Amino acid sequence: MKFEAEKRIAIAAVREAAELCQNVQQQMDPGALEKKDRSPVTVADFGSQALICSRLRRAWPEDPIIAEENAAVLREAESHGASRQVFYHVRTLRPDASEEEVLDWIDFGGHKDHAPRYWTLDPIDGTKGFLRGDQYAVALALIVDGDVSVAALACPNLTISSDPGEKGVVAVAVRGEGAELYRLRDMELIGEANVSSIEDPAEAKFSESVESGHTSHSRSARISAMLGISAPATRLDSQAKYVVVAAGDAEIYMRLPSSRRYVENIWDHAAGMLLVEEAGGRVTDVDGKDLDFGYGWQLAKNRGVLVSNGALHERLLSSVDHVLSEEG
Ligand code: AMP
Ligand code: MG
Repeated sequence: MKFEAEKRIAIAAVREAAELCQNVQQQMDPGALEKKDRSPVTVADFGSQALICSRLRRAWPEDPIIAEENAAVLREAESHGASRQVFYHVRTLRPDASEEEVLDWIDFGGHKDHAPRYWTLDPIDGTKGFLRGDQYAVALALIVDGDVSVAALACPNLTISSDPGEKGVVAVAVRGEGAELYRLRDMELIGEANVSSIEDPAEAKFSESVESGHTSHSRSARISAMLGISAPATRLDSQAKYVVVAAGDAEIYMRLPSSRRYVENIWDHAAGMLLVEEAGGRVTDVDGKDLDFGYGWQLAKNRGVLVSNGALHERLLSSVDHVLSEEG
């Protein structure tokens, strides 16, 4: 099997990070949530990134990591409280870690540029969902020669229909080897991930971001009406949307640019894209182009993202094209 060690270590890394995120979430003060104080999120973001980057660095010292955070703010004197929280949560899982080590681990994720082989990490994707106690994901992917080759996603609050009554999923894929879904709690294999075989849009379900600033809800409503989709959108934060399509619980995920200027970050899509492709689905941008992971930290050559079970992709693309060109 290809990338056996990468798959094993990626799974261990996202599981451990998910445990830290769950610990932080359990200790989050509801008052802080109401005030929209972002500090608990920052603590979990930094802690998750530290744990994952330290594992990757130990296993592959030469591999660059393009991750969302860096430790600069934690090194400032006024962030003392936040840093102490990060150290506390990391040490709960790694009792021997020194403060300097934890900061250095976070900064291992500071690469920006393309490389022949690199990892990309979103230590907490769906920050707003994490704050609300809704969906979020720890998302890790390995890119080799521009191809996303290994993906591991932990979604601590997600329930999928093939494992009803359970919360917490780990989704894993290796290019050419398929995709699998595991229960986060005990890593019991739920099964292979396979997209839904629905071909009639009237029976299809679609997913999109909760945040209207991240995708245009009005356009997706027009597109789904044009396709004849009758079910209302399932709104989820994070790459949990990709997991839901890969698991066959939705047929479509639309991310329609809400501003002309916004360029997508690679860590928001790499892991999810491979997962859906290996589950038999398709991922393109709104123009039907493949996502291009050859430009460093951003998807500089793409606009928006469209995800489907494959069977519905061409029809989805033509409805999107129709609505976007009508609106100019
Ligand atoms: P989601 O949970 O799917 O809404 O996506 C969360 C991600 O959206 C965050 O990790 C951000 O990187 C990204 N994001 C931030 N601003 C925008 C924007 N204007 N359009 C699209 N995505 C965005
Ligand atoms: Mg993100």
